[in-house]
Amino acid sequence: MFILEPDGFEKILDSLREKGYRITGPKLRDGAIVLDTIDSAASLPRGVRDHQGPGRYRLEETGDDSWFSYTLGSDSWKKLFFHPIKPLFKTTRDGGLLQIEPEPPREGLKALIGVRPCELQALAIQDKVLAEGEFVDRHYVASRKGTFIVAVNCTVPGGTCFCVSMGTGPVADRGYDISLTELGSNGATRFVARAGSPHGEELLAAASSGKAGESDLQLEAELLEAAAGNMGRSLDVEGLAAALAESGDHPRWEEVAERCQACTNCTMACPTCYCHTVEDSTDLTGSVADRTRVWDSCFTADHSYLHGGSVRETRGARYRQWLTHKLSSWHDQFGGSGCTGCGRCITWCPVGIDITEEAQAVRGTARG
Ligand code: SF4
Ligand code: SF4
Repeated sequence: MFILEPDGFEKILDSLREKGYRITGPKLRDGAIVLDTIDSAASLPRGVRDHQGPGRYRLEETGDDSWFSYTLGSDSWKKLFFHPIKPLFKTTRDGGLLQIEPEPPREGLKALIGVRPCELQALAIQDKVLAEGEFVDRHYVASRKGTFIVAVNCTVPGGTCFCVSMGTGPVADRGYDISLTELGSNGATRFVARAGSPHGEELLAAASSGKAGESDLQLEAELLEAAAGNMGRSLDVEGLAAALAESGDHPRWEEVAERCQACTNCTMACPTCYCHTVEDSTDLTGSVADRTRVWDSCFTADHSYLHGGSVRETRGARYRQWLTHKLSSWHDQFGGSGCTGCGRCITWCPVGIDITEEAQAVRGTARG
């Protein structure tokens, strides 16, 4: 374990940039935290924290210069690897011939700064779905390759966070190159830093100001324990997957459908959702056609359209499909939960539908 001071943090960014990494991290834009390219540590938001609740997100100043007192914004890291809009191929008519040009996968070194523990789990879930299964997405694999991750443990959880219930936070235990815990602010900012890979170890050895002392580790443990006890939400997952699997005709699905707008926000914001569709377009001459993959959502009627109609015609059926997939059938399909407890679907739902509340309500009277 090392101690990293602000100038050491900057050194790590410089070193990554010199090695050709494109660096992405949190930024403040239009009153929210977004993920974007950053030039230096000075680009990171300072002295802000978020207040999140069902259908509600606000930032406020903390009055200090803390670096990571906020949690998650609406966009997740998945957009860097599973792109919202992905050209697949172009077809050109050349006389009687059709020329097909596949879109080449885009490689390139990426460094992600400030990845929260639940987001590491989200990346692991997307890896499993898109890169490690029977059907591999070559675009995802190419863009995910060689990613360097600086994780940040959460000392100030958000109002819709429930990572403790899902076993994904607030402490990163794998999937990073370097993990950081922020200690102190107001000119005394420093981090306890751990290496999770040889590359992380090499950078920390060069940039840290030495080994972490007993008092640093004690303070870190206290901060992380307090964070674990301060989750905004909780979800009892014991037996939940089995209970939800038996809940197909529960009346709660139609009750939630009266509020759900089928706006798709929850699925766009969710860091593990991977539904997509393909769209074809042609130019006005009819000689060039493009096929593009775009994010889609199980909340649209079209997503389950088969010949003659949609399989899931009602909003209740679509909400049931989404929630039971995340918390129940994902276990059968991928061997774990599809939910990391990040809380985005609660915060960014315009009518404040809360997955923890709905799951518990269904489970309360579900058979089995
Ligand atoms: S279902 Fe909701 S809480 Fe769970 S990972 Fe997706 S957005 Fe986060
Ligand atoms: S649950 Fe909320 S965010 Fe999701 S589709 Fe319905 S209204 Fe939109």
